[in-house]
Amino acid sequence: MAKRLTAKKIEKYLKRGSSCTLCGRALALEGESVEIDGNEARQEMSCFDCDLRWIDIYVLARIELAESLT
Ligand SMILES: [Zn+2]
Repeated sequence: MAKRLTAKKIEKYLKRGSSCTLCGRALALEGESVEIDGNEARQEMSCFDCDLRWIDIYVLARIELAESLT
């Protein structure tokens, strides 16, 4: 099966992030441990269904004071 990862699929994934970038299956994703470097974090992802592997990249967006969580 040819892997066709279009810009549209990537855009959709960036909005939801909960299903595979390529085949769209939810619950088939596995994330490795998150590596944090400065204000950026990376997590290797893979899909059991279509064997696609990619890296999610997170950028620090905001903080919440710990007091507000208690
Ligand atoms: Zn997949």
